[in-house]
Amino acid sequence: MPGLNEGHGHLLSFGKLLSNINLLKTQSWEEIVDSVHQKAKTAPKGIWIEGRGWHQDKWKNSMALKFDNYPYHDELSKISPENPVVLVHASGHALIANQKAMDMAKISIETQSPKGGRIVKDHNGKLTGVFEENAMDLINDALKSVKLDEEAQKKQYELYASIACNEALKYGITSFTDAGSRVDEIFALRDLVDIGKIPLRLNVFLYEDKNSILEAIPTLPIYAKNKSKFRAESVKAYIDGALGSYGAWLLEPYTDNPKVLGQNLMELSLLDSIASACDAYNLQLCVHAIGDRANREILNIYEKHQSNKKRWRIEHAQHIAPEDITRFKQNNVIASMQAIHCTSDAPFVQKRLGYERAKNTSYRWRTILDAGVRLSNGTDVPVESINPFECLYASVTRKRMDNNFEFFPEEKMTREEALKSYTIWNAYSSNEDHIKGSLEVGKLADFIILDKDLLKCKDEEIPKTKVLEVYIEGNKII
Ligand SMILES: [Zn+2]
Repeated sequence: MPGLNEGHGHLLSFGKLLSNINLLKTQSWEEIVDSVHQKAKTAPKGIWIEGRGWHQDKWKNSMALKFDNYPYHDELSKISPENPVVLVHASGHALIANQKAMDMAKISIETQSPKGGRIVKDHNGKLTGVFEENAMDLINDALKSVKLDEEAQKKQYELYASIACNEALKYGITSFTDAGSRVDEIFALRDLVDIGKIPLRLNVFLYEDKNSILEAIPTLPIYAKNKSKFRAESVKAYIDGALGSYGAWLLEPYTDNPKVLGQNLMELSLLDSIASACDAYNLQLCVHAIGDRANREILNIYEKHQSNKKRWRIEHAQHIAPEDITRFKQNNVIASMQAIHCTSDAPFVQKRLGYERAKNTSYRWRTILDAGVRLSNGTDVPVESINPFECLYASVTRKRMDNNFEFFPEEKMTREEALKSYTIWNAYSSNEDHIKGSLEVGKLADFIILDKDLLKCKDEEIPKTKVLEVYIEGNKII
């Protein structure tokens, strides 16, 4: 079959995750504290200990959740007094820091939460150590102020990229869309492609902070010498956060947090200016929108720029008011949905949104496809595992693999749709369907050989699929 195309992932963060503490599979706070403890025992004094992937809804023992569904930092501070610790939530929209990290970031009980973010303090004003959305920058800025020199930085990018690519190739991924890298990261990746250090094809979105994004847009497009190997002609922005951390921007309040509507992370006027700039430079715009309010606001903006030729996308498009679905079609907007998010989030979607909204607005692939909307699929790695076969399983069953919990199965994709969503539809979504995404004369010969037929095997066999051989441009890579 054609090589698989990861439609939305984060290459360097994935590489970083593989080299830092991976908490994706942890099932209790104690397990997390223990893995940090192991690292702290051998880490040189003062070095930052970084981890990612914890999710409190996956913890079997919820005794540690002491305030607002979060643990306190105290144990992390006790086991690692000399090393700052920062552990990013699986959603990427919150983190927990220990005392040393907060000291280095000069955070005290007096520090106020920034706009679009929250420093989580308990009723007595004590810091829990948790920072949500834009408040994460307070810790990340301290982390980033540890400056590597240019050479060391390049080496680090190369390390992260090569670890990530090797892992992706094992799963038959021959093309990867990176959903947000900074200008210096884009040039570093492009240079690595040009000297033959990155075996798979990359399509990279530009992401910069609010203050520098408009300035950065004119650096695009950026291509490798061989354009099919590397392209950056898309701009990423975020309008809201994630559902798990109450960051998704909703039309009506959260069912389990009735005072909260979510977070609007970027002013609509700035998003509109970014859209105008993308129009002017003929670039693709890809805005992260999870809540139904966020999706509506972005559709309103896209509608004003209806003439766009670059197949603009909405990233995640998780919760959409039913009346907004046809607007994707009317405005040629791609719904870039990650099927595996549906089954991962399934246990808490109904808690956050209630039954009716979960049913009528959440992960509605079937309805979206039937409305003639273009869809793209992926894993958002490292938010989820990169394994495309687990994601394909979620696409066609909407069932969790651990407990068979099924999330509104009427919205499943067919086998054929799921395979297209990982090949030709993702190629369409990066404006590359004329060169890849199917096995046709004249297209790039990126193809893979699997140990089973994904159109015919039993559902439960899909996640166990093994990749036997991988070819890129006709050359055998694995
Ligand atoms: Zn993402």
